[in-house]
Amino acid sequence: MNGCENMLLCKSAKRVIWGWCLFVAILCLGGCGDRPSEHRSSLYVFGTLVEISAFTQEDSAFQAAVDELDREFQAMHREWHAWKGEGELVRLNRALARSEPFSVSQDMLDLLERGKRYTEQSEGLFNPAMGRLFGLWGFHQDELPEGAPPADSEIAEIVTAAPTMAELQIEGSIIRVDNPQVEIDLGAYAKGYALNRAVEHFRAAGFPHVIVNAGGDLCAAGRHGERPWRIGVRHPRGTGVIASLVLNGQECVLTSGNYERYLAHQGIRYSHILDPRTGYPVKQITSVTVIHRDGALADAAATALSVAGTAEWQRIARQMGVDQVMLVDETGQVLLTPAMQARIQIESEFRDKVVVKPLIQL
Ligand code: AMP
Ligand code: MG
Repeated sequence: MNGCENMLLCKSAKRVIWGWCLFVAILCLGGCGDRPSEHRSSLYVFGTLVEISAFTQEDSAFQAAVDELDREFQAMHREWHAWKGEGELVRLNRALARSEPFSVSQDMLDLLERGKRYTEQSEGLFNPAMGRLFGLWGFHQDELPEGAPPADSEIAEIVTAAPTMAELQIEGSIIRVDNPQVEIDLGAYAKGYALNRAVEHFRAAGFPHVIVNAGGDLCAAGRHGERPWRIGVRHPRGTGVIASLVLNGQECVLTSGNYERYLAHQGIRYSHILDPRTGYPVKQITSVTVIHRDGALADAAATALSVAGTAEWQRIARQMGVDQVMLVDETGQVLLTPAMQARIQIESEFRDKVVVKPLIQL
């Protein structure tokens, strides 16, 4: 081999190397390198658009995990629906109305046991056994109800019968109840429960950095790359944002409000959140936002604190084990627990409405 051949070999090798470098550079410019980025997808379930973002580099595997979640969510929607179809909850309620025992799935058992616990902790203000009352007010339909509120006597009949989760007798997977007025409606915490599941699902599928947002109610885990996830909390009476916050690892943010579902009659808006003590819709509270690692608990607590109202919410929050609460009352006042105040950024136009309240009532 002479020097000239060596030179040629050298040059062609260099050309190949430069060619590869150029190719890789073009690939990186195209954004398909190894660096993870935010990938988004969405699905429609529980009557709402569910938007999912994951910080990952695996786009096609992420979409496959979203498709799988879509199947799981659609099944939950079918099985847990309170009035439509032939899902597990509809069949359970039919059996309970006839005082017949019914064997439930593991998920339903977990939901019912949680329902019992939240009912006890909230002193009955959270009461998913009052499905009959929710139906009486017209909330067992997809459309907003119309017409006059139900008659006082019909409301009184259900309130007097006092159906509650405490009456569920659970033996293994068998559910029994003696009070045929018990009708279960999971509407106040099923979404939070499903959001917990979504985060578990993505973690198991290899996506630990994810945020699942179902119409403003969300659970998140991990981070958005170098920075944490940051979210906005919708204002209860408008399209804007009332506050924003940075999420720390696995957390859920659930809001209950009287702005989405209500019965409007003769200029009065009757909220879909009902006070089990009276049978009438809650009035004082426009919205309650709760942050907790457990989405089902946050969802149940947001509903319970809406019922508890300005006088009782601090005690009930403490009993339910939630300490990050934002409550907007009917005058527009924004009540925060100290733990919530420590982390939430209230938008400037609402800051003069903020009052911080300790969880222990003084
Ligand atoms: P949320 O939006 O999570 O507050 O849930 C409201 C839904 O929960 C209503 O549409 C009813 O189906 C149901 N609900 C209403 N009042 C209560 C209550 N006091 N306890 C439990 N569930 C309730
Ligand atoms: Mg709720």
